[in-house]
Amino acid sequence: NQPLNFKQELTCVFGQPVAENPTQCMMEAAYNACGLEWRYLTIEVAPENLVQAVGGLRAMGFRGANLTIPHKVEVIQYLDGISDAAAMMGAVNCIVRKDHQLLGENTDGKGFVQSLKEVTDPSGKKIVMFGAGGAARAIGVETALAGAAEITIVNRSTERGEALAQLLQEKTRVPTTFTKWEGDYTLADDVDVVINATSIGLFPDVDAVFPLDFASLKSNMIVSDVIPNPPETHLLREAAKAGCTTLDGLGMLVNQGVIGFQLWTGVDPDPQVMRAALEEVFGV
Ligand code: NDP
Repeated sequence: NQPLNFKQELTCVFGQPVAENPTQCMMEAAYNACGLEWRYLTIEVAPENLVQAVGGLRAMGFRGANLTIPHKVEVIQYLDGISDAAAMMGAVNCIVRKDHQLLGENTDGKGFVQSLKEVTDPSGKKIVMFGAGGAARAIGVETALAGAAEITIVNRSTERGEALAQLLQEKTRVPTTFTKWEGDYTLADDVDVVINATSIGLFPDVDAVFPLDFASLKSNMIVSDVIPNPPETHLLREAAKAGCTTLDGLGMLVNQGVIGFQLWTGVDPDPQVMRAALEEVFGV
């Protein structure tokens, strides 16, 4: 004789643009599979409205939220505290409500490392990472904290690339160098893990050519891409042809979602349910 309950627990993502963000489908699939009366809303928030939007989370008792472009940095000033890793990255992609406090976490890099650990231990590995934006900062910090031996940042703009290399070198003590990306990049023979953390290949730019000397790929390398939509990118196609182990952006998306889900609900979701929901929407 349970009393009727029409009130659900609320979670969401704030972004602009946000319509193509697929997180809702995997989260709601996982809530349903766990028998939780929770919802995940996809909400367009303009930068000038972020402060009111965070106030709305507080007022309406949201249990958690994700932040995507362009809010990951700006949101920090409106929160009651952030984790050490989020502070190191200077970015928050996940808000967790604890009592009356809104706390900031960054699950992007942890989600990536979780995916990587499914195929190799990052400890002692030589890593080449393309990109130096928000995703690259998160992945760089977490792979360094996971024990990477050496990280090479390859980026188009010098300013962002040098800043990330300096941050990793100073804060994590992992030897990190920056190389400016000009023309097709050639990988050294001893590279273990190659990571695309740029937005090259993201919908609608699905035919984007990845500037890499593909002949330098070796079959013992692990090649991963952050692009979730579409999950099969030019880089991953070429890597598969070269016999490399590949990891697509859906793995990172699912794993960062798993961590957020656990932080919000205290329940372990089934990653397979989440991945299947994404594969269905992307027609994989
Ligand atoms: P940012 O805008 O912060 O950074 C973009 C990066 O891509 C910069 O390093 C930029 O270089 C580089 N870049 C963009 N276009 C080109 C190009 N044509 N040639 C060379 N370099 C280029 O974005 P984010 O870091 O926030 O996001 C990057 C990607 O990561 C997005 O596609 C996003 O969808 C994905 N992502 C995936 C997640 C997942 O769970 N799978 C989670 C988070 C992000 P420069 O400095 O020169 O501008």
